[in-house]
Amino acid sequence: MLDPATKGAVDPTRYFENVTTDDDVPEQDPVCLYLETTNRCNLLCTTCPRTYEELEPPADMSWELFTSIVDQVPRLQRAVLHGVGEPMLVKHLPRMVRYLKDRGTYVLFNTNGTVLNEKNGRALIAAGLDELRVSFDAANAESYRAIRGKNYFNRILKNVRAFRVAHRFARNDRGIAGFRPRCRRDRRQGSALAAARVFQGERHRHGAPGSGTLRAALRRGGRLY
Ligand code: SF4
Repeated sequence: MLDPATKGAVDPTRYFENVTTDDDVPEQDPVCLYLETTNRCNLLCTTCPRTYEELEPPADMSWELFTSIVDQVPRLQRAVLHGVGEPMLVKHLPRMVRYLKDRGTYVLFNTNGTVLNEKNGRALIAAGLDELRVSFDAANAESYRAIRGKNYFNRILKNVRAFRVAHRFARNDRGIAGFRPRCRRDRRQGSALAAARVFQGERHRHGAPGSGTLRAALRRGGRLY
């Protein structure tokens, strides 16, 4: 609860520093955590607040902080490992995934896909990641660069394709979902992998898409397979 005496004097970007009491005790333990494992990123998306302003010094969540948070949530069912930042820049990310999987938690995160190289992809698969969402809100290299600030369109296509192959081999072709174009126009625009979600457990044909990107891609005629 915010101290009423500070009303009007609170910096909205640092509101948490003004919390003075912890008397709002929930009836049940939490079952879902959103952990911003880093606030660093290697892109400069025009849609992202961090492109325009540095609200905090760049930092990754330490292993000690991560485990201390997770250990306080014994009923944890689902953990989301992204906030504003690129989680795959975090050195310990596969270890974090493994730590959560060992507790029976469903683990997912969004990535921009830029560092989803073969080695990093395999490490995540081996760690047991349940769901990977690749944000890819552009249909060609030019629009990608205009929206995301860097020229990584082809690199990400290559990374996602390689990841899907690695996943298929690792999981015996169980539960892969991805975006596939249905018409030539989609293919021409290079949107074969405009959005991809990869599941290790079950196939989610009609689950709620994880991003506006995927919903838009599906509306344009793509399908999950
Ligand atoms: S990839 Fe994500 S965190 Fe990075 S600049 Fe873009 S929107 Fe922001």
